[in-house]
Amino acid sequence: GSADLDCDVLVLGGGPGGYSAAFRAADLGLKVVIVERYATLGGVCLNVGCIPSKALLHVAAVMDEVSHMADLGVDFGAPAVNIDKLRGHKEKVIGKLTGGLAAMAKMRKVTTVRGYGAFVGANHLEVEETTGTGQEKTGTKKVIAFKKAIIAAGSQAVRLPFMPNDPRVVDSTGALALKEVPKRMLILGGGIIGLEMGTVYSTLGARLDVVEMMDGLMQGADRDLVKIWQKMNAKRFDNIMLKTKTVGAEATPEGIKVTFAPAEEGGTAPEPQVYDLVLQAVGRTPNGKKIAAEKAGVAVTDRGFINVDIQMRTNVPHIFAIGDIVGQPMLAHKAVHEAHVAAEVIAGELQGNKELAAAAFNARVIPSVAYTDPEVAWVGLTEDQAKAQGIKVKKGLFPWTASGRAIANGRDEGVTKLLFDDSPEAHGHGKILGGGMVGTHAGDMIGEIALAIEMGADAVDIGKTIHPHPTLGESIGMAAEIAHGSCTDVP
Ligand code: FAD
Repeated sequence: GSADLDCDVLVLGGGPGGYSAAFRAADLGLKVVIVERYATLGGVCLNVGCIPSKALLHVAAVMDEVSHMADLGVDFGAPAVNIDKLRGHKEKVIGKLTGGLAAMAKMRKVTTVRGYGAFVGANHLEVEETTGTGQEKTGTKKVIAFKKAIIAAGSQAVRLPFMPNDPRVVDSTGALALKEVPKRMLILGGGIIGLEMGTVYSTLGARLDVVEMMDGLMQGADRDLVKIWQKMNAKRFDNIMLKTKTVGAEATPEGIKVTFAPAEEGGTAPEPQVYDLVLQAVGRTPNGKKIAAEKAGVAVTDRGFINVDIQMRTNVPHIFAIGDIVGQPMLAHKAVHEAHVAAEVIAGELQGNKELAAAAFNARVIPSVAYTDPEVAWVGLTEDQAKAQGIKVKKGLFPWTASGRAIANGRDEGVTKLLFDDSPEAHGHGKILGGGMVGTHAGDMIGEIALAIEMGADAVDIGKTIHPHPTLGESIGMAAEIAHGSCTDVP
């Protein structure tokens, strides 16, 4: 049929997955159109996710640090928070990055079409123009014809069905809007997103409660690491409700009244509580069901995910999908790597380049980071997983109480842990399988452990690598030495 616009590659969604795919495809010489309903590129991550949360977390970490400085001999007094200015800082950070993305798109001649996209066929997408925050549609429609498509439509926060429609009930986007600081705040869901936002709000003065169905906060990380984080953060919380469900909520003049129930039979639950702000952080749901994927023949699961193979190809051979919409872990760095694979496979197929067409997503590990204070970071096999799966590992655990830098920083609560294959086949020289850290800047250091896993390093490789002294990163070398006994063998 007739189309208003045609291209080699249509990218649906302008988040980290979408813009990375578009840029790589354009760099490989393809004609690319990217469709995004919001006014800016960057998706959840730049606009209402990774970046704004870190802008606020940085301020919170500095405030916490400064509050301890009196003990070290410098008293800055009580902080005076100007919330409008703080919000302005966050907006500026977002603006810098989204502005940069727009410039990069222009430089690469990637066409950005603003609007809500839905498939109308296997090679056509219809876009209805959007304005304002991206929710309002103008009725103006355009059809884009494509040879290949990459679906990168992302995810959105899960909303509990019984939650009242009330400004005092927010998701992460609402929390990042930072309208005011509540006195009492409930965090629904003890995962990374909830705990990061809780860190910001409690540093600004809110008292926190957190409710979590499972028996611990920050699921996925080793319990020994989380324990250290929890000890350091105990002061922020009035009540940590584990193995507890939220079963009802009611808007009252005094606040949002929330009702709890035990997650397991025979358990107990606290009495209903009233909060000034309730943050829903119980997970994210993919946008697969909102793009008329069936018109293109693309299969979507009941939960809204799109299944793909290791080349990021859907059940329809010329349509690919990447990022949050293809499944866990819902992380920006995963989306970016998948994006590059999809773009390369497409370029390879359109240009008859066999090497590019063979690209595949085969990362061994994807790191996770909670940017709380202290940070918690982990990658690969965790100790709890090793135990549960009966995998024999040799552990090197280095407590930061022995790190000169951590002590000098006044922050020696951290630990660095490395796990090496200790199966009989490894003959005492097992490769690294995983690692975790809790402590300041843990997220900035976890990449070294990821690299070690990708390279198949063993404890000697890591222990013999000279790390600069005195740094927190040295703890990785020390943990390897501890696991190996010593690292003085002759090469
Ligand atoms: P998205 O970023 O969700 O982008 C999808 C885009 O598609 C959106 O811009 C959307 O408007 C657009 N779109 C969807 N449907 C349509 C349509 N039909 N038509 C037009 N446009 C459409 N990850 C990390 O790795 N590190 C972090 O520190 C981190 N912090 C986070 C903090 C918060 C508060 C949240 C909510 C998330 C965080 N994440 C973090 C997760 C990260 O944001 C996501 O994994 C990442 O954004 C996924 O990228 P994506 O490209 O798949 O999708």
